[in-house]
Amino acid sequence: MKLRIRREAPVDIFPVDDWKIVQTKFDPRYVAHEETIYALANGYFGTRGGFVEGRPAIEDGTLVNGFFEFRRLAYPEEGYGFPRQGQTIVYVPEAKIIRLYVDDEPLDVSQAEIVRFNRVLDMQAGVLVREIEWLTPLGKRVSLKTTRLVSFPHRHLAVIDYELTLLDGPADINISSELINHQRKESESLDPRKAPLFDHQVLSAESTSADELRLVHCYRTRFSNHWVSCGVDHQLTTECSYNTDVRSTDDFGSINLMIDGERGQTVRLTKYIAYHTEENSSAAELCYRAETTLARAKEKGFHQLAREQRAYMDDFWQRSDVQLRGGNPRAQQVIRWNLFQLLQASGRVEGYSIPARGLTGRTYEGHYFWDAEIYQVPFLVYTAPEIAKHLLRHRFLHLDKARARASELSHRGALFPWRTINGEEASTFFLAGTAQYHINACIMYALKTYVDATGDDDFLFEAGAEMYVETARLWLSLGCYPERDPSKFYINGVTGPDEYTALVNNNFFTNAMARDNLSNAVGVLERMERERPQAYQDLITKVGLEKSEISEWRKAAEQMYLPYDEELGIHPQDDSFLDKERLDLDDIPSEKFPLLVHFHYLEIYRTQLIKQADTIMAMFLLGHQFSLEIKKRNFDYYDPLTTGDSSLSACVQSIVAAEIGDFEKELKYFEFAAVMDLADVAGNVVDGAHLASIGGTWMALVYGFGGFRDFDGRFTFNPRLPSEWEFLRFPLTIRGQTLEVDIRKDEVTYTLTKGSGLPIEHAGEVIELAPNKPVKKATRAT
Ligand code: BGC
Repeated sequence: MKLRIRREAPVDIFPVDDWKIVQTKFDPRYVAHEETIYALANGYFGTRGGFVEGRPAIEDGTLVNGFFEFRRLAYPEEGYGFPRQGQTIVYVPEAKIIRLYVDDEPLDVSQAEIVRFNRVLDMQAGVLVREIEWLTPLGKRVSLKTTRLVSFPHRHLAVIDYELTLLDGPADINISSELINHQRKESESLDPRKAPLFDHQVLSAESTSADELRLVHCYRTRFSNHWVSCGVDHQLTTECSYNTDVRSTDDFGSINLMIDGERGQTVRLTKYIAYHTEENSSAAELCYRAETTLARAKEKGFHQLAREQRAYMDDFWQRSDVQLRGGNPRAQQVIRWNLFQLLQASGRVEGYSIPARGLTGRTYEGHYFWDAEIYQVPFLVYTAPEIAKHLLRHRFLHLDKARARASELSHRGALFPWRTINGEEASTFFLAGTAQYHINACIMYALKTYVDATGDDDFLFEAGAEMYVETARLWLSLGCYPERDPSKFYINGVTGPDEYTALVNNNFFTNAMARDNLSNAVGVLERMERERPQAYQDLITKVGLEKSEISEWRKAAEQMYLPYDEELGIHPQDDSFLDKERLDLDDIPSEKFPLLVHFHYLEIYRTQLIKQADTIMAMFLLGHQFSLEIKKRNFDYYDPLTTGDSSLSACVQSIVAAEIGDFEKELKYFEFAAVMDLADVAGNVVDGAHLASIGGTWMALVYGFGGFRDFDGRFTFNPRLPSEWEFLRFPLTIRGQTLEVDIRKDEVTYTLTKGSGLPIEHAGEVIELAPNKPVKKATRAT
């Protein structure tokens, strides 16, 4: 096994601290890296970790979930059914800028003489604090502390508390608190993951207003007609004398404070920032909303808002903290950073889904992929089920668009987009886009996980059942019973999760997931007919369902063809996979990874090299359908071929390694996934946090080391810790109850801390958990 670390891992730049990511020295090498690591977000909007002075900045900016501009998708060689209109997330006006001038000299941390520097992401409090001492060119020491937060309780609000003290003597202080609509030009990149350029001014000013210490601007995107209002307001507290002046033009607004600074007199400025967005809106409406948010925030003041943030965080950690002791001393810190990112991507996501890089970067254009359903939904289902439901409902609300897309491609049912914001397909490379039909099954898989864990039958029958009908129809119209093999249901011309293999017949993962989708559709509709006859009749009428369709789904599921190679005793990834050249990864120079930016896809497609877990993913997601022996053989075959060029892979490899007893790989892959961003192992953390790997880190802890499985509403465990770990503890919310799992070296304790009773299984033994009656069991032997 070889894990390619593409960049010298700078995780050591952060001292070990279980709750904080601390930086004690400014280092210009990591400016880009830290814009991501120190980004703050709440699922609705997020702002990268650039300094309030606005520089140094590499890719700093603020993003609102789902706020995109249309982009004409041009194909030099046109083709039927190619998406015509792309959606690209765009930066909203930047409001966190507070420039400082002392005796007319600007503060720029990268240029100035900084005698003390300390930046702390406090994950317990949900705030980012920076404290510096600046020796100005005139030799005066200035102490500056900024504390900022993107509020969870108040979805549209961010606050910056700014405290400045002159330590030596008087000085002229100028503070310019700004709101800037700058539309950056970016360099062209050959990396297909990066967000493309616009050649028009995306945001045009619809209204601007300025009043004392308040600015409220409203902008509109030119083609998508998305509106954003951004308001800032301030409170200034100081004993020093000062003047203020305000400027506001279309793309720029500033509040200027000219202060006669005196030694030891603290100048405290609190900046409140509000964002509101809506499609087809109006400036009057959105400005009103921003003003209201600001007025309420100002009334509460910074300390109250920080207390509310802390209360929200306490609740989050209580529901979601994973505690690990032993082994690598920074394990706890790394795990908490990952969990914190999951919260930042999802906390206030209402009405949206989770982009591949959360709200920490524009890479992948702010698009939603299968990442949300497969890598983030499990964490959400077991820690904040109502948020998981938001993501699933978001898909349901776009069912009509998925129907339209299916019909465009001559399919029945609904075809969900591979990548999208507004529900329309936005992938331009259909081989690794539209062809990834498995997204349909993945969405339904996530929905089932949610329903099984919550018992939310209302959602299942009100929304899920219709989605089951349309996804089942899709599979039936996509697949066929070939003349040459009429007793088998084939699904041809698809791409599985491994994007280094494209457009194949019978991708094992896709067929296995489709089978699951079809048989669950049958089960759900039969149950609905029994339990909710009226809703069932209404659904049948709404979607024009024939009884015979259900039998056809059952038949297709039963006769689904799953490739199997007798000689190797494995499931070939697809019909032609084993005919391809099998290369040794070690023969490829490490600088040639990721392969996708160094080789033409055609070259990659001709080999058995794979980008990410594919058949191995099926071994995990559908683990109850396969024997341990077959999992082991598949793992041994595919693992050496897996490049890990996708960050979605290592966590899944870790989980399957755990199950088959390859504990060395389990730990290695886990560590790789866990430090993906903090150590920048993929070398592209500047582009944003890898939310799939982040969700996968939680999965590796709970499903891997914790040996948790949740097939068909049975909650089973079979934990085992690496020898150097002392304990692993995590809570799970299941059917509204709270289960605490505490795993030690030889023993695991299950405690139902909230609820009335829950059946679980430990290593095949059924345990009826009663409230607050811990049950201890022996852990899995090594
Ligand atoms: C992976 C996909 C993933 C996408 C967004 C790609 O590199 O191959 O599986 O959905 O990134 O994270």
